[in-house]
Amino acid sequence: MIDKLIRNVFPEVEKKVSLAAFTTFGIGGVAPWFILVEDAEQLVQVVQKARTQKIPYYIFAGGSNVVFPDKIPKKLIICLRASRLNKINHEVKANRIEIEAGVPLSLLISLSIRNSLQGLESLSGIPGTVGGAIYGNAGAYGQSISDKLEAVLIWDGKNTRWVTKEECQFTYRSSIFKKKDWLILSARFILFAGDKKELQQKSRQIIAIRNKKYVPGIKCPGSFFKNVLVKNVSKVVLKNIPPEKIIEGKIPAGFLLESIGAKNSRQGQIFIPDFHGNLLINEGGGRASDVVKLASRLQKKVKDKFGINLEAEVQIVN
Ligand SMILES: Cc1cc2nc3c(=O)[nH]c(=O)nc-3n(C[C@H](O)[C@H](O)[C@H](O)COP(=O)(O)OP(=O)(O)OC[C@H]3O[C@@H](n4cnc5c(N)ncnc54)[C@H](O)[C@@H]3O)c2cc1C
Repeated sequence: MIDKLIRNVFPEVEKKVSLAAFTTFGIGGVAPWFILVEDAEQLVQVVQKARTQKIPYYIFAGGSNVVFPDKIPKKLIICLRASRLNKINHEVKANRIEIEAGVPLSLLISLSIRNSLQGLESLSGIPGTVGGAIYGNAGAYGQSISDKLEAVLIWDGKNTRWVTKEECQFTYRSSIFKKKDWLILSARFILFAGDKKELQQKSRQIIAIRNKKYVPGIKCPGSFFKNVLVKNVSKVVLKNIPPEKIIEGKIPAGFLLESIGAKNSRQGQIFIPDFHGNLLINEGGGRASDVVKLASRLQKKVKDKFGINLEAEVQIVN
């Protein structure tokens, strides 16, 4: 019955689409119904219709921070991805850039650099879209996407409206979007003038460094667990952490995982390489169930040894 309803409401729906092919981890079963949308307007239309018809749905974008299950539940899977920059999905005005959520983050960064605007270049090499980066407040090399953000255009289920950066409640790898069922539609950044050549050079250098850890083509969702904020850890627990391991107020998850011997661990086709404890890699044909088993085993060992609950940075979809 739901099949007929979905096909009636969404004549454009694709059936039986492998989600593994849409994620950097290469994991995920077959979506019974799948819709790819390119822009914010289409996204709102699809979600509005799904809600009106009480059709369950799940939204993702670049697929670089999600682990889909091996068996996808009976939901409409909506993917927001713009294939390129066009006249309507972005605008550069003086030192401000307004850009749609589905645009790849790499295109936003190159756009800012082309316009000699500084403030996003440290995020070079992070895969995914602008919206996905805002959702998880993505960051690297001391910069987070929220740093230069002014406001986000959202759809809250009824209205499309701008919310300020403060309203987004950004914290380390988190935002209000993890709590609310809002759609991220567009974002406005305020940047400052920079030297185009220097920005290009910095961006290239960062990508070169990142390519050593994340060899192009590697099947992973980035760092699997979040680093642990020292302010969230008791003094008793902290006694067991060598102070020199603490970086910018965080205990690296990699340190905790390496201390419990995570490197070279394996579950099915999922393994942890010998060069980084916080990286779960799919060697091909990996299963979400193995990811969950391996992650739980590691979490338990870290809890037993350090009394710390490691929290996944990736979104594990049920
Ligand atoms: C090789 C590699 C390196 C990485 N390095 C880093 C790094 O250095 N720093 C870092 O922070 N991350 C890193 N990541 C993780 C990932 O790239 C980021 O989290 C990225 O910002 C996710 O964007 P996405 O579009 O792929 O989101 P997806 O994985 O598609 O989705 C992630 C979540 O965002 C939600 N979402 C996405 N778009 C919207 C929207 N428009 N409205 C509402 N919700 C939305 C989805 O529902 C989902 O829950 C890395 C990943 C890989 C594979």
